[in-house]
Amino acid sequence: MEIDEAREVRTTCPYCGVGCGVLAKVAADGEVTFRGDPDHPANFGRLCSKGSALAETIDLDGRLLHPEIGGRLAGWDEALDLVASTFSRTIAEHGPDAVAFYVSGQLLTEDYYVANKLMKGFVGSANIDTNSRLCMASSVAGHRRAFGADTVPGCYEDLELADLIVLVGSNLAWCHPVLYQRIAAAREKRPGMKIVLVDPRRTMTSDIADLHLAIAPDGDTALFSGLLAHLAKNQALDRDYIAAHTTGFEETLAAAASLDLAGIAAATGLGEDELSRFYALFAATEKTVTVYSQGVNQSSQGSDKVNAIINCHLATGRIGKPGAGPFSVTGQPNAMGGREVGGLANMLAAHMEIENPAHRARVRRFWNAPTLAEKPGLKAVDMFNAVADGRIKALWIMATNPVDSMPDADAVEAAIKACPFVVVSDVLAGTDTVRHAHVSLPATAWGEKDGTVTNSERRISRQRPFLAAPGEARPDWWIVAEVAKRMGFAEAFAHAAPAEIFAEHAALSGYENDGARDFDIGAHAGINAEGYEDLAPFQWPAPALSSPLREGSESALSGARQASRRGVGGEVSVSANEAETVAGDPLWPAGHLPLKEGDQSAPRPSPISKVGEWAQSAVPLVSPLEGEMAGRPEGVGTTGRQPIRFFANGNFYTPDRKARFIPVRPVTETRTGENFPLILNTGRIRDHWHTMTRTGKSPRLSQHIAEPFVEIHPADAQHHGIGDADIVRISSPRGAVLVRALITTRQRPGSVFAPMHWTDQFAARGRLDALTAPLTDPISGQPALKHVAVQIEKF
Ligand code: SF4
Repeated sequence: MEIDEAREVRTTCPYCGVGCGVLAKVAADGEVTFRGDPDHPANFGRLCSKGSALAETIDLDGRLLHPEIGGRLAGWDEALDLVASTFSRTIAEHGPDAVAFYVSGQLLTEDYYVANKLMKGFVGSANIDTNSRLCMASSVAGHRRAFGADTVPGCYEDLELADLIVLVGSNLAWCHPVLYQRIAAAREKRPGMKIVLVDPRRTMTSDIADLHLAIAPDGDTALFSGLLAHLAKNQALDRDYIAAHTTGFEETLAAAASLDLAGIAAATGLGEDELSRFYALFAATEKTVTVYSQGVNQSSQGSDKVNAIINCHLATGRIGKPGAGPFSVTGQPNAMGGREVGGLANMLAAHMEIENPAHRARVRRFWNAPTLAEKPGLKAVDMFNAVADGRIKALWIMATNPVDSMPDADAVEAAIKACPFVVVSDVLAGTDTVRHAHVSLPATAWGEKDGTVTNSERRISRQRPFLAAPGEARPDWWIVAEVAKRMGFAEAFAHAAPAEIFAEHAALSGYENDGARDFDIGAHAGINAEGYEDLAPFQWPAPALSSPLREGSESALSGARQASRRGVGGEVSVSANEAETVAGDPLWPAGHLPLKEGDQSAPRPSPISKVGEWAQSAVPLVSPLEGEMAGRPEGVGTTGRQPIRFFANGNFYTPDRKARFIPVRPVTETRTGENFPLILNTGRIRDHWHTMTRTGKSPRLSQHIAEPFVEIHPADAQHHGIGDADIVRISSPRGAVLVRALITTRQRPGSVFAPMHWTDQFAARGRLDALTAPLTDPISGQPALKHVAVQIEKF
């Protein structure tokens, strides 16, 4: 696709799971300007500080521009041959489970799809896991246990329609700012809307809360168990809904009622009066949405916390209705897309289950795969343990930086260093992980990539390129497909363009799907390059029998234009237009961003954002939309702004179509000890992202908070002899970091908070995850990154 420099390109923000639409304009001199897309249903024109500063992060400084082997420049063919031959040899000598992919919520769905297909269907192992394991795996586990599928029931409009929003373990104001802005604007219109914040810290989100419950770390299961017991005791249950659409209520209630109010107060660290106030508010408010994110998920009880929340919504029938439901918001731009293609080690593609023989047979048939993984693979923490003890001998890391971001990061770094063969495909040359690669492969970055992402409300949007790929950078899907071809799977990986991969992904989602599976975008199975280019944001499901595909454009399902292609389920079709595309240059196929002469070496002009719509900018609120749909959507329109909800009328994805109440333990856990008496809570700040490889480029973003810090309650500071702005050494049994002390009553006594962004690249001894423990939730495998026993001392 040629870049039309006079045109604004409609794309999607690469940061958080809100998934805001962005309009990018490239001037003739190379200057890039951005503004929020006024037509995108996630943000209606808003951008937060990170989105507004995107122009400052797209220069070529530090880019990995050429394949390297052992630190020397290499050609693509040599590098790809080496990766393919080493993986093939390792599999032949040690079996398929001796290799692994560790991928990322930064990948586009098409990248993710191809990587998952190679590992699960052609290598024959499920050893592909993702940094999304650190983000929302507990929500996946909770959804699957309760609903029989990883289904997010609601949508963003619910936040504007609710009369009560309960925010649990979520600093929405900083971590999902545009959603926070939407709530704030809705509340301005309807001042009666109530907001409760459940968080051990008083954060910026507290500003909007009517009630802040400064809960003890990991007190959430006790809090929501107490709520369930209160609802039962005060006749606030929806008995009809429970009887018609659920099982397991009585035993769940019995477990929840094991503590009385005094016991709940003790377990949560909250007063009985504030507990009673919250419980009464929840019981009395039909339109209630409970929003939760990492404070719930990143816990050794993460799955139970999720189910404790869902239990309360099932018990009141407050699910899938306008303004009501449990709502997991994801951290990464494409955590949801990764879930959809099976990017987690315990999932199959298209939300099918790896433990289900019928699902495995279906996927194998569809892919015409020689083998298919028969059991779940290793989840992230276990995967790096297997690297450490030598079970995994060849590891490919894509678009992520585990040397800084995994718990017990020093041990992970040692494991990667000792691994016989490490491939890293990434955008940057100097990350702490790339430094340990035997082969490093230059990937295209945001602004150059072409594909789709899914946001927290199941809305699939396009990321479109507006910059030429620099140097020899290539899309991740292309890199994986080229390796697959060299491993002997040329026919199955003959993908010529992301549109073709998306069409295959859509076809698989609808393949033999009679409505028994939630994820279905079969309506787009025959999409052609033109339809893909024009694809408007849409929420799934989008089943093949649904009517309008895209308002104002030709149907992408035009059967008359489809021609059959072998190798994918035997029957998957490809349009005439795509067939022409396939015939293009095999190395740089038509339908993808071409390199223009001179682009490879020309420095990219330093871009300046002219727009700068910052977090508090007054973008007018677009009103909640009319025509909400209740119940499980069937044959619904899938485009435009019509919100789609699940489960108001039951019809879950379990064998009997009933939701499951899940009994949970109403307890708190404290893992402090004499030498490590404080609990460290880790998290994000407003203006940085992950390990700062992108936001660290922006001086403007670095102005907000310029250095790593630790929030300490005054009593703890005094006890440890620490004054404001002192340099503090935080240590755990695994490591230590140096940060600035910020003494504040926002913090609970006994707990401290530190952001996770800074690495040794940005601050001396700044890698916070050198402290964190590899302790995980036993069901989801998600690490407990918000509950680490530490010591603090003045440095
Ligand atoms: Fe990007 Fe901010 Fe929107 Fe998140 S809220 S998608 S970071 S603009």
